[in-house]
Amino acid sequence: MMVLRGAAELSALGALRGAGPLVLVPTMGALHEGHLSLVRQGASLGPVVATIFVNPTQFGPGEDFDAYPRTLDADLALLAGASTAAVFVPSVADMYGAAGEVTVRAGRRAAGLCGASRPGHFDGVLTVVAKLFGMVRPDIAIFGSKDAQQCLVIEQMVADLRLPVTLLDAPTVREPDGMAMSSRNRYLGAADRERALCLSRALAAGRDLVAAGERVPAVVERAMRSALGPADAVDYAVVRNLPELDEGTGPLAGRVLLAVAARVGPARLIDNVALRVDAAGVEETRLLASSTRS
Ligand code: AMP
Repeated sequence: MMVLRGAAELSALGALRGAGPLVLVPTMGALHEGHLSLVRQGASLGPVVATIFVNPTQFGPGEDFDAYPRTLDADLALLAGASTAAVFVPSVADMYGAAGEVTVRAGRRAAGLCGASRPGHFDGVLTVVAKLFGMVRPDIAIFGSKDAQQCLVIEQMVADLRLPVTLLDAPTVREPDGMAMSSRNRYLGAADRERALCLSRALAAGRDLVAAGERVPAVVERAMRSALGPADAVDYAVVRNLPELDEGTGPLAGRVLLAVAARVGPARLIDNVALRVDAAGVEETRLLASSTRS
């Protein structure tokens, strides 16, 4: 596994080009099985370039940029064991340089959910992802559906800016008790970890209601919010249409996202499930059009 510790070393990626599609897996490190599942999915397609960069521009004032876990040595060992061809570990100067005046502004899909409670977050995500696309020049990039809105906002950027990259989303990897894996789970003590289960339980409650025939979004949202009772604060518990994340006007139908965000102790946690609802019934579905086709 090549470890590229700065933009000056990126030319070494030339050795990987031509051996199948080059696959990019961007991360902020503090890696867990969820991240590794993206790498494994990528490695089945072509050489994988993982990146580790805690991107300052996607954190708001008062958020956890300074506290965010940084575990580079452990991350490199995990990636080496997961068939990663190369890891790019840029510095802030590599990514933003002296000026850094030009940024990407997220579109309509970033208006609600996490975009509403974290102003500027998705502009920061898109700016760094666009830069990584330009620096690594991947054929394919893989993102986790754990961060559903992020996947959809990136999909819109790729379409609107005509970027020559195919996006794939990877299913959310969960702990045996249902909790979605997240680097921020490290913030949770045992009691908070137990309470944090309310996020996946809220989604299960919502999904079960829809599976039982409920089609009124407000009823599903109320059930999810009520299941989030153990959290310290609920940010949102919503049903949205896919892929635009708009609120439906009528009964729930087609591809929809059930999404929750809540604070538990020191951690702001998110989770979601994507469903296809039609006459034949209700089933979990992939987020991105390109993944749905593959
Ligand atoms: P992060 O390091 O949190 O920025 O995440 C890097 C990538 O891993 C993003 O595409 C995330 O959506 C994805 N990811 C994070 N947690 C999970 C998980 N539990 N299952 C699948 N993918 C995940």
